[in-house]
Amino acid sequence: MKQKLFYQDSYRQTLNTMVVDQAKDDFGRWYVLLDKTVFYPTGGGQPHDSGLIKDVRVIDVEEIGGEIRHYIAEPTLEVGEAVDIHIDWTRRFDFMQQHAGQHILTASFVELFGFQTISFHLGKELITIDLDIKAISDEQLNATEKRANQIIMENRLIETKWITKDQLSDYPLRKQVAVEEDIRLVIIPEFDYNGCGGTHPTSTGQIGLLKILSSEKQQGKVRVHFACGGRVLEQLNRKHKILQEVTSLLSAPEEGVVKAMKVLMENGKKTEKMLNDSNELVIAYELKELIGENKIERQSIERVFQQRSIQDLQKLARLIVVEETKCKVIFIAENDGLLQVVLARGNENQENMKELAAKILPLINGKGGGSKSFAQGGGSTDMSGDELLKIIHEI
Ligand SMILES: [Zn+2]
Repeated sequence: MKQKLFYQDSYRQTLNTMVVDQAKDDFGRWYVLLDKTVFYPTGGGQPHDSGLIKDVRVIDVEEIGGEIRHYIAEPTLEVGEAVDIHIDWTRRFDFMQQHAGQHILTASFVELFGFQTISFHLGKELITIDLDIKAISDEQLNATEKRANQIIMENRLIETKWITKDQLSDYPLRKQVAVEEDIRLVIIPEFDYNGCGGTHPTSTGQIGLLKILSSEKQQGKVRVHFACGGRVLEQLNRKHKILQEVTSLLSAPEEGVVKAMKVLMENGKKTEKMLNDSNELVIAYELKELIGENKIERQSIERVFQQRSIQDLQKLARLIVVEETKCKVIFIAENDGLLQVVLARGNENQENMKELAAKILPLINGKGGGSKSFAQGGGSTDMSGDELLKIIHEI
């Protein structure tokens, strides 16, 4: 316990200490043991510290069998060597803010609604708690966020205490403590009493702010995403930038953005409907043009189109073969370097369209398929639609 200086002072960033051992673990990873350390090892839901031993980067810190192992890439330190160590303070303080914020959020859910936290995840980007409930309302989330921020703004003390198992009953603990000895309590007096081995700021005000970002149902529980301290400012900056871009794109003030967006979407739908209607008209005209007013029982109709959707051509081809039952249709569309082919035949024509497609498509590095009566496909080629049509005639 004496070697873990982060428990005596969670703000200590540097230390002059000594390399006690340098060894490889069972997975071949090099680590260093120090006489004393300020590096917090992964544990209690809080990720490890990063930083330097002399000029050697510490890439992982684990506590195994009572040893705090500082993992390094190469064994470049010497046993017995005196070294200056320092932790990456931005990373550590961020974890302290998030971890203390989690205690407060969890305690607020219990205080207001009796909702228990069953797990907690603290990562470099995300922080979440899982609540032992099936659903949660916006009102409950808002009330809890408000309560948590009240505790933060009252700038209450956050104390730590080492106690024995026998002393446990003196404290109104939120949940049972998992360890038997070296029991550490993190206490916000009159609010939260909690067994925890993590690092925390000394007062709640240093958490700054807590914002609940979202909640989601997950296998019979509710996951709550939130952010504390510096992460709230990051979130605000990111969201503010997006909002500014949107307000400028829509030429609308912030409070009018939703309305402007709805109008835009409505207009989009109307335009799409108009486009579809005119498309239907175009197809109806094309049908007339291709089969003529008077049926003359054509054997085949072929045409090359530019920039037409394959869906339009499929529709047109189907309409033709319903009218012209002996006819075969070959449509080719030139679409941005792609050649797309639609093949169809009426029910009095015996030619196999699937087989025809299988002959045509390899010529344009294409893929596709279909049935005996209808097939389609496409590929990229330098060939023009007319050139392909010429080759099809020679097949
Ligand atoms: Zn904790």
